[in-house]
Amino acid sequence: MNLRKVIGKLPYPVKQGIKYAYGALPPQIRYGKVFWETYNFLQKSQWWSKEKLEEYQMQQLSKLLSHAYKNVPYYRRIFDERGLKPEHIQDLDDLRKLPYLDKNSFKRYSKDLLARNTNPKDLHRTHTSGTTGKPLQFYQHRSEIEREWAFVCHQWSRVGYRPGDARVELRGAVDRRKFIYYNPGTKVLRLAPIIDTKERVRSYLEHMERFGAKFLHGYPGAIAAFAFAIRYYGLAVPVRFRAVLFASEAVYDWEREIVREVFECREFAFYGQTEHVVIAAECEYSSCYHCIPQYGITEIDPDTYEIIGTGFLNYANPFIRYRTTDIASMPISSRCEKCGRNYFPVFAKVEGRLEDFIITPEGTLIAPAIITHPFKDLKTVKDTQIVQKDLDLVVVRAVPWAGKDSQALQAELRQLCQDLQIILGKSVQVKWEIVEEIERTTSGKFKWIVSEVSRDSLEKGIKEI
Ligand SMILES: [Zn+2]
Repeated sequence: MNLRKVIGKLPYPVKQGIKYAYGALPPQIRYGKVFWETYNFLQKSQWWSKEKLEEYQMQQLSKLLSHAYKNVPYYRRIFDERGLKPEHIQDLDDLRKLPYLDKNSFKRYSKDLLARNTNPKDLHRTHTSGTTGKPLQFYQHRSEIEREWAFVCHQWSRVGYRPGDARVELRGAVDRRKFIYYNPGTKVLRLAPIIDTKERVRSYLEHMERFGAKFLHGYPGAIAAFAFAIRYYGLAVPVRFRAVLFASEAVYDWEREIVREVFECREFAFYGQTEHVVIAAECEYSSCYHCIPQYGITEIDPDTYEIIGTGFLNYANPFIRYRTTDIASMPISSRCEKCGRNYFPVFAKVEGRLEDFIITPEGTLIAPAIITHPFKDLKTVKDTQIVQKDLDLVVVRAVPWAGKDSQALQAELRQLCQDLQIILGKSVQVKWEIVEEIERTTSGKFKWIVSEVSRDSLEKGIKEI
């Protein structure tokens, strides 16, 4: 039985005591060797020349491909069928000789995608948070979690975050019995991402003031809802954060604006996924996403702008030329001129997951950023969600503010649906529905657009962008 399991069985006060003792340790001891090696390497190599970064990438790629060829039956077959050997892949053009790996193929060949030379004891089973269809399940080496955390801290260091700094989090699964939870081991005060009453908002602000952390971290949707509620109730924010750190989820411009206005600090977004193939974040001077070449190879499909990644972290379940289904938006460049890092590619934003798009019966995909406009100045509604029930039916679910005049509410919703109708076109029927609250997904994430139309339609539609 490992130490974690032993601690897990102890009574709650003893467990908290151990966490406090652990949290009091300096970060140099609290985080392991793998973390610090990765973090220190990144802090140094972020200023490398493009040539040096590319050379490093190719070394990592060749290591990964040799391993995949030797130990992963799926990739052995892929190479053999094409008459290729890992040493034939010398640059990015060569890499394109290998096919994309998509989620369906992963599910279909999952047994053959697991490396034969791994010890199950060292592996951690994980899954994507896909809300449509079945999530993808796969394995990671335990040390991968530490390495991933080093990449995240490296990105956050651009806004002054140091490993071990305390944070307030507005994210995670919703437990209605416990809205506020403090983990002394990680120095994280976690607040459930549910903003339902004035008392809740006030209590969250009081806890933040007492806790005194300099960073607020969470789902952009939840933090934006929190900011809206603070403004709506006319409450003061008693803390000055150095930055609001958005968790990896597509961020809309209106979310950035309200967060900046209410918390009077900068917001900082990054893009990542559980499969760990691409990680990218803003920098000190630009809100464009800089992909980190030391993490993997990022390709952008030239036709669809889908982000394709080959990750260097996972040797248990290697993802090579993996289709993330996330869409990068233009302009896409090979370098950020503002900070001087040679990280590449750099793209303006992540348009959202494929599942976040609305698709019309004509096969046109409509990006979330376009749909957000009519929602910007709603007065009677505090929360919304858009559900595409069918190709020709979209339902707007709306949570009204308490005590609002019902006529004003009806009028605003009617106007909202008319505006949406203009965006979506005549062949889509737009209806509204008043609800008490919008459910979070099982991981506590808030999904603004929920698509119930089949993935095939979405994938076909993507060609239309
Ligand atoms: Zn930059």
